[in-house]
Amino acid sequence: MAVLYPGPYMAAVNSLGHQMIYFIANSVEGVMAERFVTDVEGSVESGARLSDFDVVLITLHFEGQLHVLSRILRSEGLSPGRGPILIGGGPALSNPLPGSFILDACFLGDGEPAVPKMLQILAEGGSPEDLEGLGAFVRGRASFVRSSLSYVPDRQIEVHLGQGPPVNPFLLEVNRGCSRGCRFCLLGWTQRPRRDRPWSQLRDQVELASSAGFTKVYLIGSEILAHPRIADLLWLIVERGLSFSLPSLRADLITRDILEAARASGERTITVAPETGSVRLKRVINKFIENETLLDLARDARELGFKKMRVYLMAGLPFEEKEDLQASADLIRSLSTHIRVEVSLSPFVPKPFTPFQWAPMDRPEELRSKAKFLSSRVPVRVKVGHPGRAAVQALISLGGREVGRVVWEASA
Ligand code: SF4
Repeated sequence: MAVLYPGPYMAAVNSLGHQMIYFIANSVEGVMAERFVTDVEGSVESGARLSDFDVVLITLHFEGQLHVLSRILRSEGLSPGRGPILIGGGPALSNPLPGSFILDACFLGDGEPAVPKMLQILAEGGSPEDLEGLGAFVRGRASFVRSSLSYVPDRQIEVHLGQGPPVNPFLLEVNRGCSRGCRFCLLGWTQRPRRDRPWSQLRDQVELASSAGFTKVYLIGSEILAHPRIADLLWLIVERGLSFSLPSLRADLITRDILEAARASGERTITVAPETGSVRLKRVINKFIENETLLDLARDARELGFKKMRVYLMAGLPFEEKEDLQASADLIRSLSTHIRVEVSLSPFVPKPFTPFQWAPMDRPEELRSKAKFLSSRVPVRVKVGHPGRAAVQALISLGGREVGRVVWEASA
């Protein structure tokens, strides 16, 4: 079988989901898996063609990857319903309808518990219809499975340039899911509840990273700081002489101890995602992080030697007014009196199964004008997400099977 990531090789290596599916598939009796990415001709392992395989498992992190997948299939002379059985999974298939035009089955929940059973069924001659009940959306019927995070890979893909240590980071998932319920967030509504990896697993993974010669650990999780042993984990990584990299953090959970561990690991940037500086809008989106907390964090970070704070904001949130954007600008101005600030401004995209799924989305010209408004009122650089791409994301997030047909036709 083939394990396909619709993106370049290094992006695939940095996808824990892709790596896990590859290792799980190879552990199933009678199954041999090879990887496919966009910048390697044929499979990574043997150069075989996609059409040589009976089953293709595909990980889709972003909606736009459905288009990339369509182009890969076309370049291999494949089309929906003809050729290998195509099975997808990942956050971009939370609404499986567009993907179901191209794929024979879409996994809705976690892959670890389902993939071995699914591959056994297919290896014994089963069809996609037989996967019903295993957590897949097949021919209009859906089921859902959750992982308890008992599986953890006992090795990771290493990329070496010459004799040195792996140049890629070791991927360590601290927890999965989040129950905070921010109203715009797909994860906050489709990946409930948060599940923490046991301390023994985390400790063993750090030892594995260290003994395999990795120099950097990427910590993965939507609510990393809520793990009860997070500080112990960070200090263990530091003690083993490794550095770590954190995703964006909830500012109200960052303690001085966490900051000190991050500095000891060599981090110089702290990333937070308050989404807005407006107190009113914070309540609307149900993500209430006090501006004062952010300012305290900026002061502490500066004091401890951090050079930069990266701040994720959103534009076009439901019920947003000009005053809310002004409040975001005010927050950025205040933060930048304490530390160098870099702003990433993302357009709000309505996501399926969230309270905001039917909320209207700003048109690209409105988003551009809001980005201009904010940029002109802050003394820092603002990186703006592409409004056109956001519109396509929204279409695939909320569309039906007919959107899958459009994506397929557009890839010709
Ligand atoms: S935005 Fe972050 S804190 Fe809020 S629900 Fe999503 S993952 Fe959880």
